[in-house]
Amino acid sequence: MKYNAKNTAIAILAIGLVSVSLFAASFLLSSVTDPLSSQEVEDLVFNREEEKLARDVYSTLYDTWNYGVFNNIVPSEQIHMDSILGLLNQYGIEDPVPEDTVGVYNNSILMDLYTDLVAQGQLSLVDALEVGGYIEEMDILDLQRFIANSDHPDVITVYERLMMGSRNHLRAFVGALFDEGVTYVPVLMDEADYQAIITTPIEGGP
Ligand code: ZN
Ligand code: ZN
Repeated sequence: MKYNAKNTAIAILAIGLVSVSLFAASFLLSSVTDPLSSQEVEDLVFNREEEKLARDVYSTLYDTWNYGVFNNIVPSEQIHMDSILGLLNQYGIEDPVPEDTVGVYNNSILMDLYTDLVAQGQLSLVDALEVGGYIEEMDILDLQRFIANSDHPDVITVYERLMMGSRNHLRAFVGALFDEGVTYVPVLMDEADYQAIITTPIEGGP
């Protein structure tokens, strides 16, 4: 084949244009769109109400027992709810909590759980603190699953922060039970994972 300078120049120009448009496409994907998977959306919507469940149960049980640990953790759960709302807004996902009423949920599983956990927590202070332990175990396990389901660093960062909060809340409930002369036994978590949390100190953050 005869060397043709003109064709070579066109080919180089074409390659240049392709790489420029690939660069533009990857820039747009990472900075603007990069939509969430349906699983990621489902997890965020669920977790928004799961954090609300924690806040609602603790504020209701504080009303019952007037025990400080519940009251101390309520603002932290509000921050967790707000963090997830921030992500829902950022990605244009409808908030499952249009009207924030204590004990009311869009998700029927969480609605039933609220009823059951409040009923159990009203039996005694020890039951109430054990309900706290159960909620935090559930949150930690769910957050681990949501992190594994996500490939969005901004989403994972929020989940990691919520999970740190949950580890602190679990430590607080286990400590309060200890003060009541009760050794908490994990309901959902592996014993080794549970021990790894409660034998390490409180971490910084909500
Ligand atoms: Zn939380
Ligand atoms: Zn919590």
